[in-house]
Amino acid sequence: MEQFDTYIDAHQERFLDELFTLLRVPSVAAQKRGIAETATLVQQRFERLGASTRLIDTKGGSPVVYATIGNGPRTLLIYDHYDVQPAEPLELWDSSAFEPAIRDGKIYARGVADNKGNLMLRIQAVEAWLATLGGLPLRVAFVVEGEEEISSPSLPAFCRDNAELLRVDGCLWETGGRNIDDRPVVSCGAKGIQYVELVARGAAYDLHSSNATIVPNPAWRLTWALATLKAPDGRVLIPGFYDHVRPPSAADMQALESIPDNDDELLANYGIPQFLDGLRGVERLRRHLFTPTCTICGLVSGYTGEGSKTVLPSEARAKIDFRLAPDMEPATVLRQLRDHLDAQGYADIAIIDLGGEHPARSDLNSALVRATVTSAEATYGMPAILYPTMAGTGPMYPLCQALGTPVTSGAGCGYHGTQVHAPNENVRLADYWLAMRWMGRLIQEFARA
Ligand SMILES: [Zn+2]
Repeated sequence: MEQFDTYIDAHQERFLDELFTLLRVPSVAAQKRGIAETATLVQQRFERLGASTRLIDTKGGSPVVYATIGNGPRTLLIYDHYDVQPAEPLELWDSSAFEPAIRDGKIYARGVADNKGNLMLRIQAVEAWLATLGGLPLRVAFVVEGEEEISSPSLPAFCRDNAELLRVDGCLWETGGRNIDDRPVVSCGAKGIQYVELVARGAAYDLHSSNATIVPNPAWRLTWALATLKAPDGRVLIPGFYDHVRPPSAADMQALESIPDNDDELLANYGIPQFLDGLRGVERLRRHLFTPTCTICGLVSGYTGEGSKTVLPSEARAKIDFRLAPDMEPATVLRQLRDHLDAQGYADIAIIDLGGEHPARSDLNSALVRATVTSAEATYGMPAILYPTMAGTGPMYPLCQALGTPVTSGAGCGYHGTQVHAPNENVRLADYWLAMRWMGRLIQEFARA
């Protein structure tokens, strides 16, 4: 792999140019900005690679960029996304979110970690392979969607309509990188999600707050309803919520036990004195990876600006996400939430369904997982940490689990300080080049595994 590595070193400047061009387009799916332009940019990059590529329409959603290159007995599917989270609040960025900047050996830009960096470095790794090692030893297929950050609403239908494109031997997931101790991380599953917005309505318009004597306040109504969802001890109170949660297997627990304990570094990094309920070690990991959540992500009503304004709001809104453990179903959680609010006397509170995804799990012992772990160690000179699942979510169920495809994260440039979804999202330059080397070694290992 020496020539492969040398090629990467020799082409750093152009590789960064290509990444920066992609980062400059604000492809925010939630705001419907820059989507078509970015899809075209990605497709053009695949064309320059020599891949055969298609822009696949998703009936009103963002197009999927599909590309395939190479031949061999195995096919590796690489799943990435070209959309990003909104950059707001813009004032918390130290440099413009959509003008990439290098400071202290890090690249700052919205989407550099999640997920344009990983997308670009994987393409560039394939280029480096072709330029230095000849033909690929396997077939690589890329599925790059543009709605991951809004729960991939078009992807299940895409997977149904294009099942023949997804018959592969393994899938490399979009995420990947190193943990707080800089050890490479490999994860083999994802939580599901159900995202909702709750809306309480009062008078037809905002009133003088003296009317609070006689006019209902939707802000109070919403907070009372929210208080019925979760107890102070953390338990979600929606009846049936935990019924389908699959407990971790013996193999899962064994994997958890081999994950190094970094509780103290994490606590210092987050700036909190302890985790919920004082959880530590394996118990913290078990709670984090194998239990579902109910999280108020945003809460807004009335006046929240500077100084005082005596107003009786006409509306209150809360955004809530439920992270789902295997084998929970998003549609079931949505129904349970409606039934619960009705039973508690909140039938007037509207639920807007903002999307759901199934949880997914993959075999910890598949050829793909073994190849990813081996190639990580070959790249970083230290063993990878194997996580049975991620705490995050993605469309792993329709792309992989429904078809029985093994899946793993890896060959990514994330690190503990990437601040994904937050202001000042960044990756370290050194990690970008190392992840590219990891990608090359993963191709090599998976082809011969
Ligand atoms: Zn994301």
